[in-house]
Amino acid sequence: MYRTHTCGELRINDVGQEVTLSGWIQAIRNLGGMTFITLRDRYGLTQLVFDENTSDELISRVANLGREYVIKVTGKVIERSSKNAKMPTGEIEIIASELFVLNKSDIPPFTIEDETDGGDELRMKYRYLDLRRNPVRENLELRHKMGQEIRKFLDGERFMEIETPYLIKSTPEGARDFIVPSRMNPGEFYALPQSPQTFKQLLMISGFDKYFQIVKCFRDEDLRADRQPEFTQIDCEMSFVDQEDVLNTFEGLAKHLFYEIKGLTFNEKFPQILYDDAMKYYGSDKPDLRFDMKFSELTEIAQGKGFKVFDSVEYIGGINAKKCAEYSRKKLDELTAFVQKPQVGAKGLVYVKYNLDGTFKSSVDKFFSAEDLKNWADHMNAEPGDLLLVLAGNRNDTLSALNDLRLEMGERLGLRDKNKFAPCWVVDFPLLEWNEEENRYFAKHHPFTSPKEEDINLFDSDPGKMRANAYDFVINGVEIGGGSIRIFKTELQQKMFEILGIPKKEAEEKFGFLLNAFKYGAPPHGGIAFGFDRWCSVFGGSESIRDYIAFPKNNSGRDVMIDSPSDVGEKQLNELLLKVMKK
Ligand code: ASP
Repeated sequence: MYRTHTCGELRINDVGQEVTLSGWIQAIRNLGGMTFITLRDRYGLTQLVFDENTSDELISRVANLGREYVIKVTGKVIERSSKNAKMPTGEIEIIASELFVLNKSDIPPFTIEDETDGGDELRMKYRYLDLRRNPVRENLELRHKMGQEIRKFLDGERFMEIETPYLIKSTPEGARDFIVPSRMNPGEFYALPQSPQTFKQLLMISGFDKYFQIVKCFRDEDLRADRQPEFTQIDCEMSFVDQEDVLNTFEGLAKHLFYEIKGLTFNEKFPQILYDDAMKYYGSDKPDLRFDMKFSELTEIAQGKGFKVFDSVEYIGGINAKKCAEYSRKKLDELTAFVQKPQVGAKGLVYVKYNLDGTFKSSVDKFFSAEDLKNWADHMNAEPGDLLLVLAGNRNDTLSALNDLRLEMGERLGLRDKNKFAPCWVVDFPLLEWNEEENRYFAKHHPFTSPKEEDINLFDSDPGKMRANAYDFVINGVEIGGGSIRIFKTELQQKMFEILGIPKKEAEEKFGFLLNAFKYGAPPHGGIAFGFDRWCSVFGGSESIRDYIAFPKNNSGRDVMIDSPSDVGEKQLNELLLKVMKK
């Protein structure tokens, strides 16, 4: 028998018991007459002692042990003289009488402790060792628990988990496909699914009514911060539902997870913010609602006073940083430098200090009287002691820069506490998005998203104005999920392809199976997909989804542990009728 208990299990009540433990050696401390070993497994740490009563033979074997050796130890549980309150097993230790080395270990390339000396690249190369560390293991435990609770909740709502294939053809999420050559059909390729979108719609046509799947999706994108080429979605679809039904159901899922995982109860309905309002007040379709600091538009009241920078622009707007009128010159300079960073893109920053004594001090005192500035302050609900930060330029770029500035101020003022959660829905997204480069519309969500009933008449006159039955789920400024009510009639779907400039023939080739299926009694349906990795990372309070993936890829899409992607041999290429061009 390898063990009677785990390394996280024994307590003061177990004193006197003879036990056997197996695990890895985390640390060995030799204090002259006494040797202490910390033994680790998934469940915790237990201290082993070898003292003057230990046989010489055993002592000599202990002397040959090293870090990460796998050992089996038998001994008696005794009360510790110097207790460690930080360790769940810290009141006891095992006085060892027998010890077997189950396996040796090379010296690990980094310390396997909560705080490690290993850099990112090294830890990824030896990810199996990194995964022995508590914080990393705990992340995967959180992910496991999330997965279990999601299944429990959705099963309770009568959703069926159904698998869909990975070897398919192009899907419509707008990224590049990963492709897989087919040996049996040389010269032809599968695509890996960017999502199971078309299959889940087909399942609705099959009558399954409520489907979900925790599923891998593949998108060959340049890996901007915190993306992975393969990631996991909680993919869901329902029949005979409208937007409100879908939101209610998945608000239920979110509340279940908040409660089970974070112990948080939300009694109110989650706020639903119109896409247009999200852009107007937060400059983002994923607003961080942990704090207020909404934008106020000043275009009308700030123009026409002779300040050239303002007079020629499309949009002037600002945020009110409460109680920040005391900001020093240095801090204001920092903020100016921040908004001028290329990623933020503003030309400059105008500030107005609404001093506690009711006077104003601004960077534009030359052009605006105290009365003008009071007017701005009133418009922005400012009180004495507040600081107004104002940007100007073309509308979209300025809204986006103001969003960055708002988040930066939120950060500086400690308003973005990772233990506070502010979920919301963003609804009524535009159906289409104009692409200047390609001179055509793209689907803002995907081409199966239905326009709002009342906007369908705009198809021919003003398609850009059409709103979609599409929604996103956002927590703390992070997009956690998105979905839509779908088009379920062939004619409307064809019209959609037309407006997206997808020729009939191409639509037929790519999605003919779906258009065909629509002819056989497709029910009204809609759904949503959540980024599972991301949801875990937000609940875990981390910025990075990689922390929640057992074996993630690096920023160049490489797995440095197994060294992939890699070359394949000539033979394999020949079988596939493939030739690699010189890189
Ligand atoms: N398939 C969509 C996506 O991956 C989600 C959905 O519309 O259900 O974003």
